[in-house]
Amino acid sequence: MEKILVLAPHTDDGELGCGGTIARFIQEGKDVYYVAFSTARTSVSPDLPDNILEIEVRAATKVLGISKGKLIIFDYPVRHFPEHRQGVLEELIKLRERIKPNLIFVPSPNDIHQDHQVIAAEGLRAFKRHTIMGYELPWNNIVFETRNFIPLEKRHIERKIEALRCYKSQQRRKYLSEEFIWSLARTRGTQIEGGYAEAFEVLRWVYDG
Ligand SMILES: [Zn+2]
Repeated sequence: MEKILVLAPHTDDGELGCGGTIARFIQEGKDVYYVAFSTARTSVSPDLPDNILEIEVRAATKVLGISKGKLIIFDYPVRHFPEHRQGVLEELIKLRERIKPNLIFVPSPNDIHQDHQVIAAEGLRAFKRHTIMGYELPWNNIVFETRNFIPLEKRHIERKIEALRCYKSQQRRKYLSEEFIWSLARTRGTQIEGGYAEAFEVLRWVYDG
């Protein structure tokens, strides 16, 4: 069975970058693992429990159909990943040996957030023999090469939006707007003369038959 590994620096990055694709993969019976490297405890509004993002990522990944045992949560300090590069790399190598994924998703290496850059760079180092795709988070991308497209159905985007609704603590974020998510999916779909899609940078492609 094909095994997919989604690496999310922070809890909602994976859903935002490839939530529709995850919904499609799960529907196709593929095995999807989701790793969140931080629950950003120090960024949470003081009127909320500091583990609110852990609660929300559990709910969001459940909506996408990722089983409980395939959600892995670390607690690296938000905005300080560059000081933990080696620790991140060692965890990625352990995950590589344990999960043996065929396909990995990371943020684009052109992402301007320092934590996202660490996950992209260490992902490329840890998974040398693997196919890796970079997902887009347009508010963090100055350049993004749309080289790979995964066509999606309306229901996959609906599922992505439903998952993102679980992040109640983050609803003020502009990028969680449903209108934005629909329009990006439509834009990427239109690039390939289709309906909806998510686009990815091909960071490495290794043919495995
Ligand atoms: Zn993030």
